[in-house]
Amino acid sequence: MSGAVSIDDLVAWIHAFRDAVQQHKDELTRLDSEIGDADHGSNMARGLDAVVAKLDPAPASAGDLFKTVGMTLVSSVGGASGPLYGTFFLRMGPALSADEVDATTLGAALRAGVEGVVARGKAELGDKTMIDALSPALDAWDAAVADGSDAAGAARAAADAAARGRDATEPLVARKGRASYLGERSAGHLDPGATSATLLIEALRDTLTDAA
Ligand code: ADP
Ligand code: MG
Repeated sequence: MSGAVSIDDLVAWIHAFRDAVQQHKDELTRLDSEIGDADHGSNMARGLDAVVAKLDPAPASAGDLFKTVGMTLVSSVGGASGPLYGTFFLRMGPALSADEVDATTLGAALRAGVEGVVARGKAELGDKTMIDALSPALDAWDAAVADGSDAAGAARAAADAAARGRDATEPLVARKGRASYLGERSAGHLDPGATSATLLIEALRDTLTDAA
């Protein structure tokens, strides 16, 4: 086993994320109706449909793939999440310019993506945003790689950490985004963006586990 992640795997990840968001669209919208404006599921589903439409023929490199994904999300998703997810993918691309993608380079690219989201949205851990799922996922990824995991193993650890981070948003008071307007009333609900971000990492886990 080479441990390499192919461009086909990365394209399959994006398709799997689209499928997961379609499947959970109503749930994402319901969560956003509780602490936002009830558009997160439809925002993400519309954006990812536009993304998938641009992936045929499939891009030749990881850099091209993530540039297309990011630019399409920025231009087709309204609200906070479009520019934030768009930034995530736009920052991932340049971090994957090496010929071979493996657990270490993919982890570094995910980190570059999340740092882009933080630079743009200024959310910190505990602010009840997608960062609460993504940041622990990255740390779990790096710890797994340090323990000798390949990308599929790192993605399994990252997906578990993302889900725990998502669940931990429930009691929190939102300090960023639309939900922060509710103040204390935002507590007692899962964050929609942390929920979709967990779907993103779970889609990567499922894709890499199937490919292994
Ligand atoms: P909007 O809030 O503009 O309607 P969405 O409903 O599509 O956009 O997305 C809401 C999600 O975006 C939130 O649940 C949260 O996870 C995420 N979010 C909002 N603001 C920020 C921010 N500044 N940094 C990181 N994530 C954010
Ligand atoms: Mg919304």
